[in-house]
Amino acid sequence: MTSRLPKLIAFDLDYTLWDLWIDTHIDPPIRRPGDAVNELRDRYNHRIAFYRDVGEILHRLREGGVTIAAASRTHAPDLARQALGLLLVPPPPGHKGEAPTPAIQFFDQLEIYPGSKIKHFKELHKKTGLPYSEMLFFDDEHRNKEVESLGVTFCLVPSGVNDRSFEQGLAEWRRRHPVEVTEDAPGGDAAGLE
Ligand SMILES: [Mg+2]
Repeated sequence: MTSRLPKLIAFDLDYTLWDLWIDTHIDPPIRRPGDAVNELRDRYNHRIAFYRDVGEILHRLREGGVTIAAASRTHAPDLARQALGLLLVPPPPGHKGEAPTPAIQFFDQLEIYPGSKIKHFKELHKKTGLPYSEMLFFDDEHRNKEVESLGVTFCLVPSGVNDRSFEQGLAEWRRRHPVEVTEDAPGGDAAGLE
């Protein structure tokens, strides 16, 4: 059985997808060294890269038809957008020969501006028409858990997104939104839910 995914998954940027604050640690201009994959450099050669598992997770979500969003309260929204446009995500495993993809192409929605993330999610709801119950959000800062007041599932990732924290978030979302069983299930599954 394939595992259910929420219709929208949103990610914070700083310390959730990369290990820096784009507005305080990075000095423009930023550039990609040649064809480097998952690597940018700023004026002082400070490196910008996604955490190790992020690329594969983005591929998986796109494959699964999930709407992908970025929700960041950075004070440098233009720089953040520029970084997403320049940063290359390697092709998924088993597609080694294929060209890498600019990170920004994975994101269907970008809500990047300072302020409470309640606003970011209200905008996501308005723009996508998706219910909050279909939204899962990964963020490294506890204060942003306030989006749960809307009905979004919040997953705190103090060490950023990796395979393990991502699966934990999915598991929590599935726990909160169990499948409504409408068919006769022969044996196993239905009994196991009790
Ligand atoms: Mg953050």
